[in-house]
Amino acid sequence: MPNSPLYPESSQLTAQRVWQTNHPTTPKSAIDQPKAHQPIPHQPIPRKPVTATTSAFSTTNTIQSTSTMQPSSPTKTATATDPIVKLVDDLLIKAVELKASDLHFEPYERTYRVRFRIDGLMQQVAAPDIALHSNIAARLKVMAQMDIAERRLPQDGRIKLALTEDRQIDFRVNSLPTLFGEKIVLRVIDPLSSMVGIDNLGLEPQQKLLLIETLQQPQGVILITGPTGSGKTVSLYTGLDILNTQQVNISSVEDPVEFNLHGINQVNVNHKIGLTFATALKSFLRQDPDIVMVGEIRDLETADTVIKASQTGHLVLSTLHTNSAATTLTRLHNMGVPYFNIATAISLVVAQRLARRLCSLCKKPTLIPATSLIEMGLVAAVHTANSHPESTQVIYEAVGCEHCHNGYKGRIGIFEIIKIDEGLAQIIMQGGNAIDIKTAAIEQGFFDLRQAAILKVLQGLISIAEMYRVTTN
Ligand SMILES: [Zn+2]
Repeated sequence: MPNSPLYPESSQLTAQRVWQTNHPTTPKSAIDQPKAHQPIPHQPIPRKPVTATTSAFSTTNTIQSTSTMQPSSPTKTATATDPIVKLVDDLLIKAVELKASDLHFEPYERTYRVRFRIDGLMQQVAAPDIALHSNIAARLKVMAQMDIAERRLPQDGRIKLALTEDRQIDFRVNSLPTLFGEKIVLRVIDPLSSMVGIDNLGLEPQQKLLLIETLQQPQGVILITGPTGSGKTVSLYTGLDILNTQQVNISSVEDPVEFNLHGINQVNVNHKIGLTFATALKSFLRQDPDIVMVGEIRDLETADTVIKASQTGHLVLSTLHTNSAATTLTRLHNMGVPYFNIATAISLVVAQRLARRLCSLCKKPTLIPATSLIEMGLVAAVHTANSHPESTQVIYEAVGCEHCHNGYKGRIGIFEIIKIDEGLAQIIMQGGNAIDIKTAAIEQGFFDLRQAAILKVLQGLISIAEMYRVTTN
């Protein structure tokens, strides 16, 4: 089997994979649906579906190295010969190899498509025969321990995939009844990709210092903000990992807990029984805590409890769905938190985005005048452009090669960070708006998301196109 340098683990993945589910074999009912093209277990694959599914792999043009997918598994179970089982197994392993974050199985009136989200963007990877859609959905639901008879209501489940003895990947599974059948979406929960280390997040050196300094404070609130998919969870876990020592008690409440962090008391939100972020946090405060993490601040009750925890001597880490660091502070006020509490309790606000990294093997250098950098928003370029009007900078463009996805490979965080010092606290207490806060922050050396992204462009890490994509609201 060719061992692509992009996915060096692939041969290991296919050789040692083992499904961990309560249903190691496909129950008959999963594939005995009264449908056409019903595959019969342990028999040769029916001609048409096989052509449809295998050609779907080989004709995929957006994803490279599909050949590494062909499992040559020595640990085949009896069900591995079933075409649906094999198709689903292959897709899950392919998703891991391609470092996809989500897998979408989507039935339409006449077609069926499988798309992966890779580096933040959706890409089609297969188009199995539409006649297979209910069998594929049933197989996924069996693996996720969901009720296969229930096709009219959404359901949640989980699939555990052991890649090696000490590496396991989980898939969080959700089914949704759409007009033409059940759409199944899997979110990949990979502990390795969630623990990148503080040096690999994408923080500029001064931002990293600010974050570490604030993490070492005994109390205060650190807020990580940004839209869904901006990497907030990875940043939170990175912070917790730094704090996680024998000497401190750390508790976290999450919705849901994505993966286990050894040494941290993790609690899942459970709305059905009233276990919310706020109720869990109140319990934490009665359990002798040092550090608490609250998955998200969504309402005033949670915000108030977080502020109170900070004011009573605890370090709190949390997230908020806001666009920028400065608007986060005004958002808290709009939720009903008094200015005084915001100014005294919040210590650091981080806003972030994820940008696709340029592939280092094929990126193409090009020159850009310093004046263009000013037009894009890089304040630091003003001096260069004024003293050397003809000056240019080398930047890179995406090209695309066999080792990347359209010129991009992996992602990097883009950050803006505001530390609430005394001056800023005064402005907040006086009811300053987001512009006042940002102006004062710039005086402390703050740079915003756009400027942080331009720095990444100048470092050759991202393209201009990607800078605009992730920093245009
Ligand atoms: Zn490349």
